[in-house]
Amino acid sequence: MKILVLNSGSSSIKFQLFNIEEEKVLAKGLVERIGIGDSAIEYENIEGKEVNKTLDISNHRDGIQDVMDILLDPEVGMLEDIDEIYAVGHRVVHGGEQFAHSTLITDEVLDKIEDVSSLAPLHNPHNISGIKVCKELLPGKPQVGVFDTAFHQSMPEKAYIYAIPYEYYKEYEVRRYGFHGTSHQYVANRAAELMGKDIKDLKIITCHLGNGASITAVDKGKSVDTSMGMTPLEGLVMGTRSGDLDPAIIPFLMEKEDLDTEEIDNILNKESGLLGISGLSNDSRDVRQAASNGNHRAALADQIFNYRVRKYIGSYMAVLNGVDAVVFTGGIGENAGPVRANILKDLNNLGFDLDHKANKVRGEEKEITTDKSKIKVFVIPTNEELVIARDTKRIVENK
Ligand code: ADP
Repeated sequence: MKILVLNSGSSSIKFQLFNIEEEKVLAKGLVERIGIGDSAIEYENIEGKEVNKTLDISNHRDGIQDVMDILLDPEVGMLEDIDEIYAVGHRVVHGGEQFAHSTLITDEVLDKIEDVSSLAPLHNPHNISGIKVCKELLPGKPQVGVFDTAFHQSMPEKAYIYAIPYEYYKEYEVRRYGFHGTSHQYVANRAAELMGKDIKDLKIITCHLGNGASITAVDKGKSVDTSMGMTPLEGLVMGTRSGDLDPAIIPFLMEKEDLDTEEIDNILNKESGLLGISGLSNDSRDVRQAASNGNHRAALADQIFNYRVRKYIGSYMAVLNGVDAVVFTGGIGENAGPVRANILKDLNNLGFDLDHKANKVRGEEKEITTDKSKIKVFVIPTNEELVIARDTKRIVENK
């Protein structure tokens, strides 16, 4: 049974074709620079055959058509007939309060996804356009939406209501939603499996540290708090996002620099974080390299990033009344041993005992604490596409 997973962004479409019974990726790739010139498709199939070519791709329809064409290509494709695709799973960024679970996409569901788009105007419209194109190119094929926010819908009110006039929640749905839910859910479940325990008996803190970064407190398998908020801007320091800051800084800077709302939004989302502090790069590798060459602002960016994660781990230990396991995932969490070591440095009093040799691991599942560590720490590469493919199969089979 073949399932196509699509992640349609503003100018890119990531795709993976799964044989879902065996949970194998038959082919995967990326369509880039849609509508902005020099568009390209990168593709690799399970036999290692690769294609990298530039194409004229002006919109999502062209992009998804190119994905279908390459999957059907007699040389490198993995399909003989488009009907071999059993269903399509889509990543959808914002499900608002409407979607606490992955859902079969009907016309009514599509309307609801459009309704919540005002909460994620930079993301949802592109996800919706991917869904609409698939309806057109693969008529009658079941499609499933998997929401980044869904896993966090289990948060209690006290974790998701902001301390501003309650009317704004009622009127505009201003509240914490949280993101990266598919990733947090996947790595929390894998941690329980690696521990040989039922997730219902565990308290887990999951740290998704990539260019976007968030951290979640998972109690008995459910998200009870998470660092991203109504938008992905809140919480940890990220590649270009500020994360938490005093909200009074916003009107202060707007007045001082004569900024409008779009400009301040841009500064906080695209010019802050590691890039803003270091003045060099949003990429944590570049920042740490510059820090090791003696660049003070780069060193500071690295320290502030790590310190923020450490503070959140401490606060979520209080939320959960202790923790059994901490998980690191995402590009930084999976690969950067020194960042993990720095975050957990000298936390023996809290019950962490890092195994520095094991912590050298990159990009593979591993426990990185010693046998005497009260709290276990794992590196677990995330796999959001697999969760989307699994959910798609389950939902279509039970429809
Ligand atoms: P996104 O949030 O865009 O999915 P990723 O999860 O790919 O981002 O994470 C990107 C970050 O991961 C970058 O800051 C990069 O420096 C870091 N990273 C990726 N690979 C490595 C690596 N091999 N070693 C250290 N850091 C890495």
